[in-house]
Amino acid sequence: MENANQRSTVVNAADFRDIDPGDRLLMGPGPSDVPARTLQAIAAPCIGHLDPYFLSIMNEVQQLLRFLFQTSNELTIPVSGTGSAGMETCFVNLVEPGDEVAVCVNGVFGTRMADIVDRIGGKLIRIDAEWGTAIDPQLLQDAIKGRHPKVVAVVHAETSTGVCQPLEDLARIAHDAGALFLVDCVTSLGGMPVAIDEMTIDAAYSGTQKCISGPPGLSPVSFSPAAVRAMEHRKTPVVSWYLDLSMVRDYWGTDRKYHHTAPINMIYSLREALRLIAEEGLEARHERHRLNHRALVAGLEAMGLAMLVPESIRLPMLNAVHIPGGVDDLTVRKTLLNQYGIEIGGGLGQFAGKVWRIGLMGHSCRRKNVFLLLAALESVLKTEGYTAQPGARDAVAAVYDPAD
Ligand SMILES: *Cc1c(COP(=O)(O)O)cnc(C)c1O
Repeated sequence: MENANQRSTVVNAADFRDIDPGDRLLMGPGPSDVPARTLQAIAAPCIGHLDPYFLSIMNEVQQLLRFLFQTSNELTIPVSGTGSAGMETCFVNLVEPGDEVAVCVNGVFGTRMADIVDRIGGKLIRIDAEWGTAIDPQLLQDAIKGRHPKVVAVVHAETSTGVCQPLEDLARIAHDAGALFLVDCVTSLGGMPVAIDEMTIDAAYSGTQKCISGPPGLSPVSFSPAAVRAMEHRKTPVVSWYLDLSMVRDYWGTDRKYHHTAPINMIYSLREALRLIAEEGLEARHERHRLNHRALVAGLEAMGLAMLVPESIRLPMLNAVHIPGGVDDLTVRKTLLNQYGIEIGGGLGQFAGKVWRIGLMGHSCRRKNVFLLLAALESVLKTEGYTAQPGARDAVAAVYDPAD
């Protein structure tokens, strides 16, 4: 359609064609490919949000989410909104103006958490680490010495860099200081172990479109009994009406009190995505992510490319790789999309134009996709004047079939 017409208040319905995005292979930082079964679930009839059938679906979704989070937390629900809504839910419910909050920042999403704390009027204790590295527990220890943070917050899987944050020491330091431990599990959940009870996480949030491989639009959130107590002992009302869990949980709990209309069909699709995860099994799913990650890295390195993050703290589902000198970031990504239908991510912030972020999330994380991406990338790089070293295929095959 002509640009000039877009402000017209009259439309011709025939100008609008059927939606048909074509085939894509989503190997960026999210969304990931959504399995057909999960998409089909959306098309089930929309029914009332208090319909007994839907209430039973809600119960099942909560049950499946507790399985995925490995938690017995009663308050475990999908918040209506994307991962950022889950992030905001955790902070607005746990933080009151004047509360001290320690936030670990080593990428885009830590920065976003710090921003939210500022907006709520919390007293931010910010712990910064270089992007592409993990937070050193000693930095947290030093930063909160003599202070009384109510919450210590950290990102488990920093999607902007590909760093996996070890949580054990941070959890211990947080609890020793009497703080609640809040963790962003948006990218980790469904792709690597996130057992929140065992890891003593008090508040966790995730998103449906990363390793859960559902469409974006819901944010699984779980609060421990300690986090619920903190919520119940607030002196001020939660600044967000929509995300106030004290009201939202009256709908997800036994009262079934109307708060906002649940996104019925999105919840169907989440249920199907979770059912697929239960069918596969958590351990098998995590192992699948590890294996395909190792194969991808073997292939990239065999081609002569270098990973951004040291091996010991690399995420399996998000692989940041340096763009070789002389190669144009945008040209490569555009060609991958236009000629191969493959989407990968560019760098964010200080890594813009310097790294690519290759996702192996959920349904996208498959052997054939590893081979496809490597072959496509090799060919596109060649047109950009970069000739990859030979042997990527063998290096990948050696990971999948070590006996050969
Ligand atoms: C994607 C992502 C978010 C934000 O989720 P949206 O669904 O984009 O709102 C938050 N944290 C991390 C680590 C993410 O990867």
